Amino acid sequence: MIPLEEARALVLAACRPLASVPVPLSEAVGCATSVAVRAAGPVPPFDNTAMDGYAVRSEDTAAAGPDAPVKLQVSGTLAAGAAPDVEVRPGCAVRIMTGAPLPPGADAIVMVERTRPTEDGSAVLVEAEARPGDHVRRAGDDLAAGAEVFGPGTVLGPGHVGVLASVGLDRVEVVRRARVGVLSTGDELVEGSAPLRPGQIRDANRPALLALARSSGFEVIDLGIARDDPAVIGAAVERGLEGCDAIVTSGGVSVGDFDYVKAVLDELSQGTMRWMQVAIRPAKPFAFGTVGGTPVFGLPGNPVSSMVSFELFARPGLLRMMGHPRIDRPRVRALADENLRRETDGKVHFVRAVAQTGDDGRVHVRSSGGQASHLLRAMALANALVVLPDGPGVEAGATVEAMLLT
Ligand code: AMP
Ligand code: MG
Repeated sequence: MIPLEEARALVLAACRPLASVPVPLSEAVGCATSVAVRAAGPVPPFDNTAMDGYAVRSEDTAAAGPDAPVKLQVSGTLAAGAAPDVEVRPGCAVRIMTGAPLPPGADAIVMVERTRPTEDGSAVLVEAEARPGDHVRRAGDDLAAGAEVFGPGTVLGPGHVGVLASVGLDRVEVVRRARVGVLSTGDELVEGSAPLRPGQIRDANRPALLALARSSGFEVIDLGIARDDPAVIGAAVERGLEGCDAIVTSGGVSVGDFDYVKAVLDELSQGTMRWMQVAIRPAKPFAFGTVGGTPVFGLPGNPVSSMVSFELFARPGLLRMMGHPRIDRPRVRALADENLRRETDGKVHFVRAVAQTGDDGRVHVRSSGGQASHLLRAMALANALVVLPDGPGVEAGATVEAMLLT
């Protein structure tokens, strides 16, 4: 067996960053910027009001208060989107709505709640003193013209997309989204809801891995199910190599008589494929190598093992290819709410667990169900993997490390 870190290092060394491309903002979420983005102009683009109210000359409101209102003539109205074409002259005010440009002459806004209109509406009684700049949002407050909006290696989320739109970009230069092909292997596997003949089971890994890959921000290609036949497996992998940046297979990497994935990938990779027994549970068997530079992840067939293996190896590798600075799920210290027993076997165990914040503000964990590697439901119910180092496990009340899956 080799330590997890050794297997991981092998994977990461082979996962080189993909090319940089411009993508529309609508396709940018989850991608990392490849160059710094700069603002062509200021944001906001002009001085404007943060409040509905009146644009005033602040000196006109000196000493105003609830009992000593100042009367100003209303010389116009400015809605958001209007050009600031009315000047605020001494003794005057302009009715103004949030987002409208500050009209010339004005240097402050009095919020509407601090005013009362006169009966005929021609004037307004201001009941508070305005200081210069009150409720004014200055041009460039958020971003000055030419300022760096985001540095290279920024992973874009919904807020980033909004900021990029606000500086007038409709495309952004990012590291290309990794396209990953997912292949299931096994004579026992049946697609979808087709009836099961004796000995058959349904393919759970491919739907799960496709969904996991997609939810991790990768583009996915469904490579289907390959029978346990070297020619069929070989053809499916070759098909994947044509259009994918990486391939993920499940099944056929153990020591069974029909585990042909090994043989096929050995040949395609010209013997550079590594067959590992990683000192972890689940997901001990793992194969990794490159075929013509394309990383190929040979995940174990047991459904829980395939998902945990994807989390520990494929996801970080693919995020590295997409230029993400942080490729690992967050790990937190958590309180075990129950005994988490295990056997001493030289491996690190990843316990499927439910993590929740308790009333004490700490993260609490408990097992999400049976821990055998075919019990996919317990994996589905888990939102964390508790990392139990080799040994007998821990008792309730112990502090453990948990890898958060969401
Ligand atoms: P293998 O690694 O091919 O020996 O498979 C290990 C176990 O996982 C066996 O019980 C397989 O039937 C099961 N298995 C393999 N592939 C899948 C799959 N795609 N969906 C569900 N179970 C699978
Ligand atoms: Mg198999």
